[in-house]
Amino acid sequence: MNQVDVTIIGGGPCGLFAAFYAGLRGMSARIIDSLPELGGQLTALYPEKYVYDVAGFPKVLAKDLAKGFIEQGLQFGAELVLEDTASELVRVGEGYEIRTLAGKMLPTKTLVISAGAGAFQPTKIGIPREDEFHESGVYYGVRDKSRFKGKRLAIVGGGDSAFDWCMNLEDIAGSISLIHRRDVFRAHEESVSKVKNSSVNMKLWYAVKELHGNGVLSGVTLEHTQTKETERLDCDAVIVNIGFKSSLGPIKTWGLEIEKNQIRVNQNYETNLPGVFAIGDVCTFPGKLKLIATGAGEAATAVCFAKTMIDPAAKLFPGHSSEMDLGAPDPAHSTE
Ligand code: NAP
Repeated sequence: MNQVDVTIIGGGPCGLFAAFYAGLRGMSARIIDSLPELGGQLTALYPEKYVYDVAGFPKVLAKDLAKGFIEQGLQFGAELVLEDTASELVRVGEGYEIRTLAGKMLPTKTLVISAGAGAFQPTKIGIPREDEFHESGVYYGVRDKSRFKGKRLAIVGGGDSAFDWCMNLEDIAGSISLIHRRDVFRAHEESVSKVKNSSVNMKLWYAVKELHGNGVLSGVTLEHTQTKETERLDCDAVIVNIGFKSSLGPIKTWGLEIEKNQIRVNQNYETNLPGVFAIGDVCTFPGKLKLIATGAGEAATAVCFAKTMIDPAAKLFPGHSSEMDLGAPDPAHSTE
């Protein structure tokens, strides 16, 4: 892959704002994120919650805020590498090569780490053949609803993700069974009551114990969590929604100065490695606040310093965007 001016690790609000700022400064950018969707925790953890402390928004739904960050962040054409994790950082000349778990080699001049709490990985059920059926019957998220058209789905979990997908897929799935290990739910009460009154078949007090099929999933064995009785459920897909685990993971091995699981930075958001910056929840310095409001400023500052590192003749101050002709679509005239 081509060398970019800046690689941004983490496609949450800070990473997306860094991508926007890179574009504003005429820099090419690439975003790497372990999740299939951009937006970080806004999208993955609390899409339906209101956020009240983003400058200029008295109140905004997290999913709408994420949509705005994505539109703003991608307008200059940042490349996306999703569902992959940056695993190695190798110094090459004046820049770096980032290697990913999927085997990509991504050259970059500078790096902005905005990895939040670290790479998010969906929790696996932990049963035999789970990896074998990954993406051919077992899914840890829904990227494309149409792939489940007419299919018999087993959705596992009792949290908001499981209930949201029951509601979202009901119109296109052939049938849906919700498999949950008890009869108490973490999901919003309103979602629970909607699903209870829908066509979804609630299999409570059950856990998935076995996967069946030859190359393609054909069914699962469910075990009653109290009586231990088993039964077979024919299905085409298991959608697992049993939470996420986050960890700094391989970033910890890159030689960065780490303090309590965070990356130490100076007032320019530079780490101890040349050309490597860290912003947002993943970085630490005296007086650090973990807020989207402050993270956006950190993104702008880090990218402007990265710009002057790549081009020593460039000014640190980016200028005022209101005086620039960005040619970006006016959100007020968006057709959506
Ligand atoms: P979650 O709230 O952590 O729920 C995970 C569910 O999976 C729980 O019901 C849990 O059961 C079950 N579970 C965990 N480990 C399991 C295992 N090994 N086998 C079987 N079941 C297991 O996860 P989530 O639904 O992905 O949500 C994550 C966060 O994002 C939450 O804070 C949620 O509110 C938020 N979120 C919000 C929205 C929304 O606002 N619409 C949408 C998506 C996510 P137990 O209850 O028995 O532990």
